[in-house]
Amino acid sequence: MALILKAQNLTKRYKRMTAVDHISFDLAEGEIVGLLGPNGAGKTTTIQMLLSLIEPSEGHIEIFGEGLSANREKTLEKVNFAAPYAALPYNLTVYENLNVFSLLYGVRDRREKIETLLREFRLVEFRNQRTGALSSGEQTRLGLAKAFLNDPKLLLLDEPTASLDPAIAQHLRTLVCQKMKAVHGAILWTSHNMREMEMVCDRIIFLSLGKIIAEDTVRNLQDRYKKRDLEELFIFLAQ
Ligand code: ATP
Repeated sequence: MALILKAQNLTKRYKRMTAVDHISFDLAEGEIVGLLGPNGAGKTTTIQMLLSLIEPSEGHIEIFGEGLSANREKTLEKVNFAAPYAALPYNLTVYENLNVFSLLYGVRDRREKIETLLREFRLVEFRNQRTGALSSGEQTRLGLAKAFLNDPKLLLLDEPTASLDPAIAQHLRTLVCQKMKAVHGAILWTSHNMREMEMVCDRIIFLSLGKIIAEDTVRNLQDRYKKRDLEELFIFLAQ
């Protein structure tokens, strides 16, 4: 399997602390990898470095075989992300937001693409609603729909289902996984919902105090640590 992402010795230091501490990991085509860890472990910091939103203090990131720092714009063309803290402009309607982002991304057949995403992410009835007037779950759906506008091959999801009810969360998990598997894309997915991680992840990377302390399939990790499920394993590793 070809690699989509390769992070080597990725480190982020702030004045008094090291948020991410020399971590190295890969994502192959078609892989869904869970980035787990307690609050403050360094998950969001890692994702923000992969998106080039913050500069690593040390380390190297390759996406589709290209160095991110040398070739930021080109490398990020087939990358997208969704996170609760990345709210879309509140004054635009749902449709306007998708339209603006599709123009920014240079999407071909953008009207058709937007209609498909509105349907898939169950946003048709909200198309003319101001984004600021959406519920938090509806905003989450819009953020995920936006993340598919550029047909990403690498998707970075930071707690994407945190505000969703169980039924819509289930629909979106399935949809997101199917869409990415169909194009052999990769997802790096953070969540504090261990059942969700068991359902979607091919592999787990467990961070603690900025370091990778465990990495494997859920099954192998459970066997190695003799834990019944991922929740038990998390509580054990997080101690
Ligand atoms: P959570 O599960 O709570 O979302 P996380 O694993 O995403 O946590 P990060 O947001 O990556 O954690 O934060 C890692 C550590 O880096 C935390 O201790 C945080 O306080 C610290 N940190 C993050 N940004 C900064 C900053 N700009 N300046 C100083 N410290 C920071």
